[in-house]
Amino acid sequence: MNPILILTLVAVLSATTALAATPGVIVRTDIPFGNAANVRVQQDRAVTEVRFTPDPHGGPECLWFCFRVCRPDSGGGALGQVRLVLECPETMLGGGKPADFRPVFRPAGGDWERTGAPELIELPDGRRQAAWTLDAATPSLDFALAFPYGRDDVEQLVRQTGRYWHVDTIGVSQGGRPLLRLSNDYGRAKGNRPGLYLMTRQHSGEVSGSWVLDGVLRRFAELGDAAPLVWAVPFGNIDGVEQGDYGKDNFPYDVNRAWGNPPMRHETLVFQQDMRRWAQRCRPVAGFDFHSPGASESEGIYAFVHASEKLSDVAKRATEWAAAMGEALGPEFAAAKFTRSGDYASRWNTPRFGGFCQEDMKIPGVSFETPYGLIRKTVMTREIYREAGRRIADALVTKIKSMNQEADKK
Ligand SMILES: [Zn+2]
Repeated sequence: MNPILILTLVAVLSATTALAATPGVIVRTDIPFGNAANVRVQQDRAVTEVRFTPDPHGGPECLWFCFRVCRPDSGGGALGQVRLVLECPETMLGGGKPADFRPVFRPAGGDWERTGAPELIELPDGRRQAAWTLDAATPSLDFALAFPYGRDDVEQLVRQTGRYWHVDTIGVSQGGRPLLRLSNDYGRAKGNRPGLYLMTRQHSGEVSGSWVLDGVLRRFAELGDAAPLVWAVPFGNIDGVEQGDYGKDNFPYDVNRAWGNPPMRHETLVFQQDMRRWAQRCRPVAGFDFHSPGASESEGIYAFVHASEKLSDVAKRATEWAAAMGEALGPEFAAAKFTRSGDYASRWNTPRFGGFCQEDMKIPGVSFETPYGLIRKTVMTREIYREAGRRIADALVTKIKSMNQEADKK
């Protein structure tokens, strides 16, 4: 080969951050939310095998992955059979049961779909692997732990709900990216409309939390004036979202452990200011935070309540709010043990969103954990996540109504 051509080829490959290559097929992580490590591509006659492990991106935990298998020249033919082998699943947070993983894939120009159950492989030393074989009729195929959710999805939500939601920038992240907040009403000084403050993606890879919140916000848009005043942060850790980080317990500080006074991250400084502004412009009722649990958890949605002040009135109310949400979600969605204490062992025992709600704002603070792939036998689709969100929204409206009725009686 002409030496100039070889040099050009090397330059092109390094510019696209191709992680591994065999003649004709590469894996790219420079796509939205891209994440994969230790990627190796092998071709065995008609099958392209891609081995990978989720990249911790410098944090102590790994979980999220998302990458593209493609031909380097877009004019290339179909990929054909691709076998994707997830190595070291036990090193993912909660990844001990890879049989319950149901990643998603997307052929070029198509939409995301779920895979089926994996083929489980046990190595001679006891390590396990999970593999999926897909048939790609296109020159590229994206593969991710679960349906990604990013800025485009928020834009779509805003468009499809007829601009019911305002989108404002309330500050910037540690990395200088805009922090967005959606609202259906700015309220007014000393306003009396009951208000909710909603949050998701403080742990940036927790996409199922986003899809549930998406359903909550769509339902509130349908309810219009019958909905409470709602302010919602779609990306608590936008740097992590855009960098493809999992972002749980990540350095220098997990966003959801940085809610103290003074706050330990710029993001939480921004959110605390915004929550104080919100509290001045409505009648603050509660704060809710939407998360995802361990990678292979499949027993259903559950709630954490901040219980460090077990006997306080606000902690009791938080438990009641959580119970009402569990009832509304019903046995199709709710885990058998729905309400749990969020005071599990953590690398940082510093304040979380729920603690800030309850101790500083004196309102209940509840977080929800929604599995990535399965709720028992049900394979979670975006519509099913949204249905869970709709049920939560309706339950919030009912609970606020009953609070108002009780207040009227007094
Ligand atoms: Zn989380």
